[in-house]
Amino acid sequence: MGVIARYREHLPVGPATPEVDLNEGSTPLVPSRNIGRALGLRHLYFKYEGLNPTGSFKDRGMVVAVAKALESGSRVFMCASTGNTSASMAAYAARTGARAIVVVPSGEIALNKLSQALMYGAKVVALKGNFDAALDAVRDVTNHYPVALMNSINPHRIEGQKTAAFEIVDELGDAPDYLFLPVGNAGNITAYWKGFKEYQAAGRTTRLPRMVGAQAEGAAPIVNGSPVLNPRTVASAIRIGNPASWEGATSARDESGGTIAAVTDTEILSAQIRLANSEGLFAEPASAAPLALLFRLVRDGKVEKDAITVVVLTGSGLKDPDAALKNVEPPIELDGDARTLAKVLKL
Ligand SMILES: *Cc1c(COP(=O)(O)O)cnc(C)c1O
Repeated sequence: MGVIARYREHLPVGPATPEVDLNEGSTPLVPSRNIGRALGLRHLYFKYEGLNPTGSFKDRGMVVAVAKALESGSRVFMCASTGNTSASMAAYAARTGARAIVVVPSGEIALNKLSQALMYGAKVVALKGNFDAALDAVRDVTNHYPVALMNSINPHRIEGQKTAAFEIVDELGDAPDYLFLPVGNAGNITAYWKGFKEYQAAGRTTRLPRMVGAQAEGAAPIVNGSPVLNPRTVASAIRIGNPASWEGATSARDESGGTIAAVTDTEILSAQIRLANSEGLFAEPASAAPLALLFRLVRDGKVEKDAITVVVLTGSGLKDPDAALKNVEPPIELDGDARTLAKVLKL
């Protein structure tokens, strides 16, 4: 069952909305076995969003955006993206027989990230200029032609993404004390907060979590309080200088009594490795940013030991193997038999 079928009554869908799903959502809430113990936290969980059909949480919002676009008669979808948004849009377009057009800035075309979009059959256009120019062009086209805009300014994406908050409450029986997640365009923090509040209004949770957002130091507009012209970080999914849902993020932070803070690339990569080699969970660098922030807040005594804490792992580590491989030992090359092997491995 996908998120539309599971949470229909909480979503802007009706009898005229076509059924679309790739079985997205219903991702596991994995209890920590080792990191929680090492930190002295008794109730630490990971919401493993990398297990969505295209490998990131983007599928939750995209399925609703696609269903609504089809409902309004659109058969062509367009977005400016080089990452997970384009992969997700292309998959749901393929699923529903619609056309997908992805516009990327020509200098920054990273083919490995576009391989999913290309495999799902999207048309990929490299436009001269930076990302903002690509987004402007996409907005312009979608304003003048019967083409649906699928970037995060599409409000249906937030609607779909809030279902992750519902799932956490459904599984824990109540909202956690803390929700940690990365913040890029800030659609996801906005969506989770909306989801928790709607569930509270519906009597499904008695309390709300503190929302804790992590940005990367070289791409921390919300932490700095002003846009970043040339955002830089290894965590490409949060390499955003001027978030589309800025306001949503600061409201979530302030209304919940939470915080949004920046972590360094070094902290992000070391959290990513620790998550993989001590929990068996491989997440992309952006997803490790909130874990890096958790390490710091625990060190500073800012998280109570018996707090129920959920860290959202937004995307699969397989999305960006290059980032991960820079920080691990390469395989040993050996010419020999079982005895040499045993000796080298110190068995
Ligand atoms: C899109 C994305 C983010 C950032 O989410 P926003 O809604 O833009 O804040 C973080 N991690 C991954 C893996 C993503 O795909």
